[in-house]
Amino acid sequence: MVKIPETMFKYCPKCGTHKTMKVKQEKTARRKSGMSATARKEKIRRRGYGNLGKYSKRPVTQTKMASKTSKKVDLRLSCPDCGKKWVLSYPRTKRVEMVK
Ligand SMILES: [Zn+2]
Repeated sequence: MVKIPETMFKYCPKCGTHKTMKVKQEKTARRKSGMSATARKEKIRRRGYGNLGKYSKRPVTQTKMASKTSKKVDLRLSCPDCGKKWVLSYPRTKRVEMVK
């Protein structure tokens, strides 16, 4: 579990100074569904490697690559003075708690 403070002292790119920002948790993580260009190239490069279930074993996708139980956290920061908002992403966690 990760405890996230409701205010953070962060740099505002519009004002050019550090200020205490309001933090909100983004309800639905707005992430790209497709692959990035590097991920696509890596997939093409690795084509043909790994156990594909040919010889007496099940393929690796069924046994080892189970779906993850944690989710990436997206936080929405907003500047109190200029009103600029942006998204700060946090590493994978199961639970998130907002702390004062
Ligand atoms: Zn600002």
